[in-house]
Amino acid sequence: MRPMIVWFRRDLRVDDHAALYHAAATGAPIVPVFVFDTEVIDRLPSDGAVFDFQAEALRDLESAVAERGGRLIFRRGRSLDVHEELIREFQPSALFFNRDYEPSARLRDEAVEQLYRRNAVDVQTFRDHVIHEPDEVLTGEGRPYVVFTPYANAWKKLDHPAPFGRPKRFATPAGRSVGVLGAKELRRSVTIERPALKGGAQAAEQQWKQFMKHSLQQYHQGRDLPAEAGTSRMSAYLRFGCISARRLLDDASDAYRDASTEGRTAIAKYVDELIWREFYQAVLYHFPRLVSENYRREFDRMPWSRSQKTWQAWTEGKTGYPLVDAGIRELRTTGWMHNRVRMVVASFLTKDLMHDWRKGAEFFEAYLLDIDTASNNGGWQWSASTGVDPKPLRIFNPTLQAERFDPTGAYIRKFVPELRSVPDNHIHAPWTMPPAVQKEVGCAIGKDYPAPVIDHYEGSARFKAAYAEIKRGRDE
Ligand SMILES: Cc1cc2nc3c(=O)[nH]c(=O)nc-3n(C[C@H](O)[C@H](O)[C@H](O)COP(=O)(O)OP(=O)(O)OC[C@H]3O[C@@H](n4cnc5c(N)ncnc54)[C@H](O)[C@@H]3O)c2cc1C
Repeated sequence: MRPMIVWFRRDLRVDDHAALYHAAATGAPIVPVFVFDTEVIDRLPSDGAVFDFQAEALRDLESAVAERGGRLIFRRGRSLDVHEELIREFQPSALFFNRDYEPSARLRDEAVEQLYRRNAVDVQTFRDHVIHEPDEVLTGEGRPYVVFTPYANAWKKLDHPAPFGRPKRFATPAGRSVGVLGAKELRRSVTIERPALKGGAQAAEQQWKQFMKHSLQQYHQGRDLPAEAGTSRMSAYLRFGCISARRLLDDASDAYRDASTEGRTAIAKYVDELIWREFYQAVLYHFPRLVSENYRREFDRMPWSRSQKTWQAWTEGKTGYPLVDAGIRELRTTGWMHNRVRMVVASFLTKDLMHDWRKGAEFFEAYLLDIDTASNNGGWQWSASTGVDPKPLRIFNPTLQAERFDPTGAYIRKFVPELRSVPDNHIHAPWTMPPAVQKEVGCAIGKDYPAPVIDHYEGSARFKAAYAEIKRGRDE
């Protein structure tokens, strides 16, 4: 029997894996392949920690494939070249893979698909990365949604697919493999010192069970507090497919059935976040230009700042606003940042400092372990007010946000050690400390910790004026 190729990409698991499940069900030998695509890797600004996270996930996947009787094969090179080799070597009867909705991945996949078809090899692709695909959630007129709430309402009306479960056992024919490549082999330096997460399906499973047990039923309250373990930390696992979104929804739905009224509110909120993820996938799928362009064209005229000084302050976590600085430092040391803080740092960069959201998005790309073009782009365009679902002048006050969501300053103190001894009544605005207090606690503003790089009210006013100007341009 000729083998089938199953191409793993952002779906690094064997359980509930649509393409593998269907391929194994045929009883044919399977060549499970992962390609270290040099074309993609060379383009990424990522810190090496992301590649180490991926390597952990791949080692886990390698063992899980071996447990099912097969052998995961690793190749390095351009995807198209690698697939040409695979066709020559294995004479496969089919290529199976799960669909990816990112614009550049779609181009790559189309080229690979054509290659197989030219060689008279069947290609089958599957829905796996999302619960409902971009083309499944459309308005009555068949158009994409650009506002979240109606999208979510339409999404919720669809029947949810059940997880596929474990694939049948299968065998893999002999073939060469370069083995798992991490940051070192891919020649990336690792600057993230303490990655927040370990890669792999096992780690994902553990983290998910922990969250379900301790935090899911209080998610609506805990999700906004960066000092607490109130969120699931599933984003990197979903990004690399160490766990499926189908599975999370299925478990959440089970928990919902037995939950109290309050627990149900929490779980519904959690499901809304899974829907945000799919909303942004759909937005980028339908509007691929948004990878680099504003959804709202009037922002093409925005006079974004070129100040090196404020850009450097933000990227180094030295803006003088404790919550902003804690967030950037969390990102640079752990590869993760809490959602509330992502919104605050992004608002601060684009509104207070008026830097272009694209620079912020690229900076996040370098450090986030959960980096996902659709969610990152969506999050940045939302924060900059350039995107879909508009609320134009949403400007976060970084001090009020800190007071509200990190009331004791526990999160700030964890990531900004210079502020550890600052008293609670000054922790959110340390520049208000009288000189005597600064001396007493050993934190001189302007020396040990920076004075604010900008006055929040002046920054907001400047943004509002610039916005009024570009809007006038649009209306003329
Ligand atoms: C500027 C900015 C950039 C972002 N960049 C990314 C990114 O590159 N990758 C990424 O996965 N998320 C991104 N997000 C969304 C969000 O911050 C993370 O998904 C979330 O913090 C991950 O933590 P969690 O898994 O504990 O989330 P939970 O609160 O437990 O949420 C569960 C899941 O829902 C999804 N989700 C939650 N919030 C959002 C959201 N606002 N948008 C899309 N999906 C969401 C994630 O998959 C998450 O794992 C960004 C948000 C902002 C404001």
